[in-house]
Amino acid sequence: MPRLLLFDIDGTLIDSHGAGGSAILDAAEAYFGIDRAVLPKLQLAGSTDPAIAMDVFGHVGREHSRETIFAFLDHYLANLERRLQAPDFRGVMLPGVKSLLDALREENDAHLGLLTGNIRRGAAIKLGRHCIFDRFVDGGFGCDHPDRNQLGPIATQRMQAATSTTYDLADIIVIGDTPKDIRCAAAFGAKCLAVATGDYSVDELDALKPWRTVESFADVPATVELLLRGE
Ligand SMILES: [Mg+2]
Repeated sequence: MPRLLLFDIDGTLIDSHGAGGSAILDAAEAYFGIDRAVLPKLQLAGSTDPAIAMDVFGHVGREHSRETIFAFLDHYLANLERRLQAPDFRGVMLPGVKSLLDALREENDAHLGLLTGNIRRGAAIKLGRHCIFDRFVDGGFGCDHPDRNQLGPIATQRMQAATSTTYDLADIIVIGDTPKDIRCAAAFGAKCLAVATGDYSVDELDALKPWRTVESFADVPATVELLLRGE
C-alpha cells in the first residue's frame, strides 16, 4: 500500500525570503490605497492565504466577501510573480529537498501531494520558480477553505481520485514546519512529520507531539526511510 505524503510549502520545501509576505503588503497597498506601514505584523506562518487576506481586511476596517478576498489575492498573485522573477530574488529550496523529491520519484511506495495554506495559483508560482510544482499530483490548498484544519480530507480525496488509491489513515503523513501543520494533521487523524526549517525549533515542534520531528531533510536516505517505512 503506497503512503500518501502531503507536503506544506513555505518553510518546508522552500524559503522565499519573505517574498510572499511582501506580496501581501503590495496587495494591501494596491487594493486599499494604504501605506503598508499602517498594518501590524501579520501572522503568516501556517496560515491560509484567504485567512491572511481576511486579517488584512479586518485591520483596515473593511467587510469582506469571497469575491473581495479573491480580488485582493489576484493583486497578491501578480506581485508574487513579479517578486519571484526579480533579478534580486534570493529564495531557495531548503536543504535536501531537491534530492528528497528526486529519491521519492524513484519509489513506487509514495504518492506526493500538497497540503498548504497557499492558494493553488500561488503554490504553482512559488514551486514553479524552483521547477518542482509538477512533482506533486494534486492536493489541498488555501483556496479550498480558509481553515487549514479542513484541508486534510480535501487533499486526501483529491489524491485518491487522481491516483485511484484508497489510503489508510495510518499511511498518510502531513509534512510541515509549524504548529498549524501539526494541528492540521491531528484534525483528520494523519501522522505529522514536523521539520524545523521554518520559524520553529525542533523543541518547539516536538512539544506539540507530532509523529516525528526532524531538524531538516539534509539526510535524504534517513528521511526517505522515515517517510516510507517509519512506524
Ligand atoms: Mg509552512
